[in-house]
Amino acid sequence: MKSALVCGAGGFIGGHLVGKLKREGYWVRGVDIKEHEFAPTQADEFCLLDLREEAGCQAALALDGGTFDEVYQLAADMGGMGFIHSAECEIMHNSVLINVHMTHHAARMNVPRYFFSSSVCVYRDMQPGEPELTEADVIPANPDNEYGWEKLYSERMALAYGRRYGMKVRIARFQNCFGPFGTWRGGREKAPAAICRKVAEVEDGGTIEVWGDGSAIRSYTYVDDMVEGIYLLMQSDLEGAVNIGNPQYVSVNELVTTIAQVAGKTIHIKHVDGPVGVQSRNFSNARICSLGWQANFDLEAGIRQTYPWIEAQARGI
Ligand code: NAD
Repeated sequence: MKSALVCGAGGFIGGHLVGKLKREGYWVRGVDIKEHEFAPTQADEFCLLDLREEAGCQAALALDGGTFDEVYQLAADMGGMGFIHSAECEIMHNSVLINVHMTHHAARMNVPRYFFSSSVCVYRDMQPGEPELTEADVIPANPDNEYGWEKLYSERMALAYGRRYGMKVRIARFQNCFGPFGTWRGGREKAPAAICRKVAEVEDGGTIEVWGDGSAIRSYTYVDDMVEGIYLLMQSDLEGAVNIGNPQYVSVNELVTTIAQVAGKTIHIKHVDGPVGVQSRNFSNARICSLGWQANFDLEAGIRQTYPWIEAQARGI
């Protein structure tokens, strides 16, 4: 039986990834600084550890009788645009410490395969209609925020340790990911969850506030598709960073319209000042698609899975 360590298993994507690895027949240890807020863990073993500390990383990696076959590093101090703009120092401090120690000790403990969760925030801003950027177009680097710079540095560190220690490093750059069992309130939630919550809380015909003018272009990837991509990539020979994202690009206004349709409500939008991030996104998925990956959920199908869960949470069910 293969063994896997999932760092960030108390979080949204890490929690779903544990479920995927269990379905694939792995023995899984999950690690996080907190328990999962919304669902019991499916991991065989769950450890509460602070991965900013070297000792925490060493304890996470220690396994009786050898090393983990696969390590998935998804732990990060992380949130939506509101958090990214207000917590620059925490992001750069905490996430870089997690990655410095985890990469160093995984390599020195001869972990054969190491996955790092990066983000399309490593790329520069784009204008609507610009041709796709490939992974190589990240250079010359000009991320829009410090979260992106931290990811870029940690990608390069993982690749350097991979070269030195012969560790097979796999790096995914995630587009926006959404689905049930993710943060939906409290300041760290991302746009799809925040808008689902606002729509759930307002009456039919009501008005919700949306940051910016609603024209920013994004793609939103349903979490099941993301987790399939992570797993395929980890099993593959693809070296270097790999974008994973739904090829359907929509404006924030269109995101609101889709959520309102799924909710069966007429919703009016009041645009207010707030952190919006980049204007536009358009990335090549050719590398992940070369492994047979495709997005099985378009935006509406993903929202149909997500909205009822957030609505039930908002109603306190
Ligand atoms: P999340 O916040 O739900 O999960 C991250 C987990 O890391 C949390 O449970 C948190 O408690 C844990 N963590 C933070 N500091 C820790 C520490 N010191 N020690 C141990 N655990 C710690 O976020 P997510 O959406 O599941 O994202 C997972 C990964 O994917 C992150 O690296 C994130 O940057 C990346 N990513 C996510 C998205 C997205 O849209 N969700 C997009 C791009 C990249």
